[in-house]
Amino acid sequence: MSLMNYTGKTLRELVADARSKGIAIGHFNISNLEGLHGTFNAAKELNVPVIIGVSEGEREFVGVHEAAALVKELRETHNFPIFLNADHTYSFEKVKEAIDAGFDAVIFDGAKGEMDDNIRETKRCVEYARGVGRDVLVEAELGFIGQSSRINDAVPEGVEVTTVEDAVKFVTGTGIDLFAPAVGNIHGLLRDGPKPPLQPQRVREISEATGLPLVLHGASGYETDVVRACIKAGVAIVHVNTEIRVAFHDAVKDALTAHPDEVAPYKLMKPAVDAIQAVVKEKLQMFNFL
Ligand SMILES: [Zn+2]
Repeated sequence: MSLMNYTGKTLRELVADARSKGIAIGHFNISNLEGLHGTFNAAKELNVPVIIGVSEGEREFVGVHEAAALVKELRETHNFPIFLNADHTYSFEKVKEAIDAGFDAVIFDGAKGEMDDNIRETKRCVEYARGVGRDVLVEAELGFIGQSSRINDAVPEGVEVTTVEDAVKFVTGTGIDLFAPAVGNIHGLLRDGPKPPLQPQRVREISEATGLPLVLHGASGYETDVVRACIKAGVAIVHVNTEIRVAFHDAVKDALTAHPDEVAPYKLMKPAVDAIQAVVKEKLQMFNFL
């Protein structure tokens, strides 16, 4: 994918800018056009860069090449800094597929396995990305934070917090561009109460020890103050998915209930676009300190 008409900064430059300003770029997952348009509308309204994420499951539904074409089209037609990331990818083959399709960034997620296996496979992804002739950012994860963007009954089993020592070993051993440690965060929301607390102090320690921009996953449901404390401490990208899924679900349910005889999808789905836009706007204001 070329950046034919897009004349702005690269994602790598924008991440560096975010760090130097002490703000973060929002990363929002999509499964459909409603998600893409809602997210893009919000970013355009506030005039801030944005990253669209598609996980393996979301890519299977949207189409790997379709996702790349849609984001490329928005970026070039609007000359707007919207980028595409292959969120949580569990094999080198799927990382390669996303890079070959033109994604701007990929996440290899080997956090559930042994650290040495995680380092080896992450390194393989980094080496592949470096050889494709354009700048692709590679992110990797260390420390399990649960896998699914959903409403959980309890904190997923095996959740941990990444130590500074492990973080340094992992970053040095892989050569990644972006690092996602476990810092109290978990994916998804909890049905009956607040999520475990985020640990901005650990963010700061890992940021200082590794020197890399950090990525905060699973940011649905956290208060502004603690998210902003993590951003100031070293987070350059913040992921939100579950709150967008809930907004979509509720808007579609309400539209179907309110208009039982309406069958035009574009009429039924318009409230969902607006609902996603509202959530994304609020998060972008939070992350960009607006
Ligand atoms: Zn995540």
